[in-house]
Amino acid sequence: QHEAALAARSKENLRSPICCILGHVDTGKTKLLDKIRSTNVQEGEAGGITQQIGATYFPVDALKKKTAVVNKDGKFEFKIPGLLVIDTPGHESFTNLRSRGSSLCNIAILVVDIMHGLEPQTIESIRLLREKKTPFIVALNKIDRLYGWKKIDNNGFKESLSFQGKAVQSEFRDRLEKTKLAFAEQGFNSELFYENKSLAKNVSLVPTSAHTGEGIPDMIRLITSLTQERMTNSLMYLSEVEATVLEVKVVEGLGTTIDVILSNGVLREGDRIVLCGTQGAICTNIRALLTPAEMKELRVKSQYVHNKEIKAAMGVKISADGLENAIAGSRLMVVGPDDDEEDLEEEVMGDLENLLSRISKTGRGVSVQASTLGSLEALLEFLKQSKIPVANISIGPVFKRDVMQCGVMLEKAKEYAVMLCFDVRVDKEAREYAEANGIKIFEADIIYHLFDNFVAHMKQLEEQRKEESKMSAVFPCVLRPVAVFNKREPIVVGVDVIEGNLRVLTPICAVKEDPTTKQKIFVELGRVASIERDHKQLQICKKGQPSVAVKIEGSNQPLYGRHLEEKDILYSHISRKSIDTLKEFYRSDVSMDEWALIKKLKPVFDIP
Ligand code: GDP
Repeated sequence: QHEAALAARSKENLRSPICCILGHVDTGKTKLLDKIRSTNVQEGEAGGITQQIGATYFPVDALKKKTAVVNKDGKFEFKIPGLLVIDTPGHESFTNLRSRGSSLCNIAILVVDIMHGLEPQTIESIRLLREKKTPFIVALNKIDRLYGWKKIDNNGFKESLSFQGKAVQSEFRDRLEKTKLAFAEQGFNSELFYENKSLAKNVSLVPTSAHTGEGIPDMIRLITSLTQERMTNSLMYLSEVEATVLEVKVVEGLGTTIDVILSNGVLREGDRIVLCGTQGAICTNIRALLTPAEMKELRVKSQYVHNKEIKAAMGVKISADGLENAIAGSRLMVVGPDDDEEDLEEEVMGDLENLLSRISKTGRGVSVQASTLGSLEALLEFLKQSKIPVANISIGPVFKRDVMQCGVMLEKAKEYAVMLCFDVRVDKEAREYAEANGIKIFEADIIYHLFDNFVAHMKQLEEQRKEESKMSAVFPCVLRPVAVFNKREPIVVGVDVIEGNLRVLTPICAVKEDPTTKQKIFVELGRVASIERDHKQLQICKKGQPSVAVKIEGSNQPLYGRHLEEKDILYSHISRKSIDTLKEFYRSDVSMDEWALIKKLKPVFDIP
């Protein structure tokens, strides 16, 4: 009896779980949301679905109606009071948001296009879900596109499938198996939802269509049962406030406001709140708690309704002073009568400081900018795994001052004069400044695309430096002239290559002695313009190969017969720099013999 009482109490005390929708672009996230939101007029279904700030709330009555078709016997029991679905789909960073300790999202719907399987952003979402240990189900969307699909609007999937022809059923099975395999490759066991024997071990795949509504009743039922069976602890209603800032927005007449998801507790007008800001913790009092006005009220006065208090789970807009520097993704705390405000400040700022501590100690690295604390964290984690150092981090739109800060790298480490921007707007002036100063700005909505951009950038820089180094790379060779065909401008000599390999562009000199001072002098002939044998152009002539005719070009060329003789041995003019260039860019092109020859030639050119 006591236990029953406890159970009853805990049932009363469950709060609504919070659900995010994520997945690759164009898989149908928006359409699915629209479909589950749309009230079905014919069946008189309204059910009190409410549009909130940044979220839609489905009270349990709406959930019951929406799942009626797959709960005909009424045996499936609802324990949660409702479901809060976050409205901005595809924002994987939301799964990375926290509200006091735990993840803001209790559960996620990962949408996969059944015709496409797992796509890059799907895989990134999976990575985040795994890292945050967020339970999720998979909507295998667009089943109506299976060839020959016969729809029954808003039906349960299992029944709809049973009405399909053989070919449709077999195409479905085929695609299902491929998807399961792809999930296995990502380290997840998955099963078709009604074949899934263990919600704890396997991810459930729910086939859906956002166009016909088929499978959506199954999806809602599954989310409900997953939250009820697996997460009652984290869904206990608490008096303590848990809230997260989704977005920071300027609203005409209100100034800077914050859109907040209240996942637990109660917020009241006048409450003193603490949150994380770019210039330190923000402490302020709630001036207004706003929710959207219903359509009919909209014309009257304001877009918003004022609330004295708001109970979780709920999306709400807060207007207050001093929110200008608020950071999206920040936790929001309420200062209670026994709380020390400074303690709370320290706690909310801890999230940002944690991230700041990941900045490279050498001061060399790329600049990283993201839309929220959560997405910044995800990006930093990824860059750490990819071994890309980070020197600056920031949250919110990219302004000129951010680019200027990144520009410091132009002198320190040019390759890091790069901004990796995830899901943020880049100000026009910032873009112009970057362009004028050679700072790269990479933008993407998929984290690993930024990585790809950066890797391509590094490769391009390397190629460029290799190209620039062409003139300073000198492969060693020693030549014995056998004939002088042209004494000057351009010098053309026939030579045997007696050491190393002769290549086009090699600078050539003779080593002579000044007759009066007896000092070593280098007579510079210029660079090899062409190598020719039997009227054929060669790029290279190796030691021991038959003689070649070499054309050498340069400004102020010496004159054969006056500054040097046919008998003078010719050398490639190596230097400290040319050796370093070979080491840096051409190491794999230089043979052991060539390194040995370089060593031998060093004293000739007085290289230590
Ligand atoms: P999002 O980028 O994931 O939000 O995808 P959208 O919801 O914008 O959908 C992308 C495109 O796919 C749109 O043209 C939709 O009409 C279409 N789409 C979405 N869901 C379905 C579905 O279940 N069946 C079919 N045939 N098309 C769909």
